[in-house]
Amino acid sequence: MIEGSVLGMVDGVHTFFKDGLRLDGRKKDELRPIKIKAGVLKRADGSCYLEHGGNKIMAAVYGPREVHPRHLQHPTRAIVRYRYNMASFSVDERKRPGPDRRSVEISKISREAMESVVLKEQFPKTVVDVFIEVLQSDAGTRAAGINAAAVAMADAGIPMKGLVTACAAGKIGGEVVLDLCKEEDNYGEADMPIAIVPRTGEITMIQMDGHMTFDEFREGLELALKGCRQIYELQREALIERYKSGVEGEE
Ligand code: UDP
Repeated sequence: MIEGSVLGMVDGVHTFFKDGLRLDGRKKDELRPIKIKAGVLKRADGSCYLEHGGNKIMAAVYGPREVHPRHLQHPTRAIVRYRYNMASFSVDERKRPGPDRRSVEISKISREAMESVVLKEQFPKTVVDVFIEVLQSDAGTRAAGINAAAVAMADAGIPMKGLVTACAAGKIGGEVVLDLCKEEDNYGEADMPIAIVPRTGEITMIQMDGHMTFDEFREGLELALKGCRQIYELQREALIERYKSGVEGEE
């Protein structure tokens, strides 16, 4: 066992399984534990706090509202802005505050994953602003951010075709598995996050870091779709729960 890690090592090669299970005790097709709470910030139009394994994410949504600067406004539809930010204290090695190439890329692909579901033509000249703050990070934060964003957007009452749900499959020790944790992500062979609209079956994001054969890719896609369907139920439950209660701290 590597010190401070769930990962094993035999003859200089990482081992990812023990007695058929992953080293955090999960099966190959098992998600990490997930908790979702909608409506946690009283000043945002919509919000969500989400835990996925060791990830802790806050999402805040504002809008549809007036666009500033005005030259960004679109005459016939709303625009969507998405900012993914990882807090300095969210990772082992302190991250320099502010945007970097990684967060700019994640913000862009996450916006693209979300915006096709928004009924933008209903709100010309406006913007929907989505803010994602990663408070604690443990791999899979872009997918967790999208899951939190979708719940926060629904909580804000933004008209949408459906929720967007994301999760990753990957390859570790030659095996295709669902939802990599940090060590699996760092030492594994591939990571493939996807986002879908479960109501329509549309895939709105697919990325791959590493290498898989075509058959492994298909197996990974099936697993990730299965994971998304489970997460979708949790997103729906969080929204149902939200409308049974109020926003914390509000009358
Ligand atoms: N990470 C880190 N420092 C960084 C960027 C990432 O420690 O500056 C860690 C963090 O735990 C993150 C993981 O590496 O969740 C995997 O990052 P990746 O870029 O693959 O994105 P993610 O899997 O979080 O969507």
